[in-house]
Amino acid sequence: MYNPKSMRAEEFISNEEILNTLEYAEKNKNNRELIEQLLEKAKPRKTERGIECAGLSHREASVLLACEIPEMTEKIYTLAEDIKKAFYGNRIVMFAPLYLSNYCVNQCVYCPYHYQNRSIPRKKLTQEEVAKEVIALQDIGHKRLAIEAGEDPVNNPIEYILECINTIYSIKHKNGAIRRVNVNIAATTVENYRKLKDAGIGTYILFQETYHKESYETLHPAGPKHNYAYHTEAMDRAMEGGIDDVGLGVLFGLELYKYEFAGLLMHAEHLEAVHGVGPHTISVPRVKRADDIDPNVFDNGIDDDTFAKIIACIRIAVPYTGLIISTRENESCRNKVLRLGVSQISGGSRTSVGGYAGYSADERPHDTEQFDVSDQRSLDEVVKWLMELGYIPSFCTACYREGRTGDRFMSLCKTGQIQNCCHPNALMTLKEYLEDYASSETKAVGEKLIEAELKNIPNEKARRLAAEYIENIHEGKRDFRF
Ligand code: SAM
Repeated sequence: MYNPKSMRAEEFISNEEILNTLEYAEKNKNNRELIEQLLEKAKPRKTERGIECAGLSHREASVLLACEIPEMTEKIYTLAEDIKKAFYGNRIVMFAPLYLSNYCVNQCVYCPYHYQNRSIPRKKLTQEEVAKEVIALQDIGHKRLAIEAGEDPVNNPIEYILECINTIYSIKHKNGAIRRVNVNIAATTVENYRKLKDAGIGTYILFQETYHKESYETLHPAGPKHNYAYHTEAMDRAMEGGIDDVGLGVLFGLELYKYEFAGLLMHAEHLEAVHGVGPHTISVPRVKRADDIDPNVFDNGIDDDTFAKIIACIRIAVPYTGLIISTRENESCRNKVLRLGVSQISGGSRTSVGGYAGYSADERPHDTEQFDVSDQRSLDEVVKWLMELGYIPSFCTACYREGRTGDRFMSLCKTGQIQNCCHPNALMTLKEYLEDYASSETKAVGEKLIEAELKNIPNEKARRLAAEYIENIHEGKRDFRF
């Protein structure tokens, strides 16, 4: 029985409800009147508090995803762009993954780290190696990391992950610092989530991979990850352990995308219903080639147009949730989806264990790679490219450091103060990047952008302060934030 408030995976991600949703969406995919109504309902509105968006339910959003009327599809894209502009402006937050260990006892059939892969070298960073990786990441300009590890209670116990987080936060190299560590590790216990919270993590990220229980069990034939309920209920345990910001995701290609889309939104609705706050982020990875993995053996791969439509429909359904795309996507795909609602991207990423230290920007170790990286540009190239497209690359980590997590972040979004807060923070952290790490070409583009964008801070006092702080950064001071 479907119940978003239930704590049982099979009830808040009810297979029956997803199938009914898909049937409803199929029946209404050419229902112009309904689609118009949904677009109207989801539009950003000015209220006393600021700008607000109603979002859409999984059923409603599934109708938009199924819609086959070309001019309505255009309207879906336009609305997604409007929502993105209202809450995220032209800011794009930058991050990089840091792979700690590829030891893994699971058998995820799409992942080269699976236990039975005897050809991939197994590697786990020592604390000295973590420090070297962090220095290398700081030296290219990163301030925000997502740490990644396989699941292995002997090689990668929670104590190891906590030690790594400690090391990462402790390294202050030149003007560098990692100010936010997000964590992408396997589902764990409330007690362990509490330890992660106490270690000062940002978002806890866990991809569902697929919401389809039967496929999930086939795709994870053995190991702790085989347990669908334990995996699907992980975010509830994370929140019980005190983690406010959680990141959902689906690995597109494994199951039918319309099924996954409905499941993903039902998961978001469940978190909202039970904890009063939806997911902080949603990631949309697609299966990629890797060591012994051929993505073509999975039947449900999606093309770039479908991918873009999924992103637009997520943006409309959950307007306050950040949307992440990684370097799994190439430059042209990233270009297409950025405007439709993406708010965070990785840049200069290495998906191997120990892939940063000791390698130049165009050298890339492949031996322990988790997947092939499509966007192989350096962070400096990505930053320059974003600015030339009119975006502000942001290295901001202020919300979490100011305690604006969970529903407090969501209310900042809703009060319209975001333009007086996130916008100057983006410009100040970009200025730090330009001063400390950018090439001269990137710096020239960035200085002009900052000058122009300072004028777009609505509040006069915030505008004046931001200009002053930017001058202070030029003089050598660091780490200002609103
Ligand atoms: N071991 C943890 C877990 O099981 O959740 C951490 C996750 S893993 C390091 C990060 C994510 O990479 C996985 O959740 C999966 O969605 C994705 N991934 C695995 N193999 C992939 C592939 N071949 N192509 C693209 N993404 C992949």
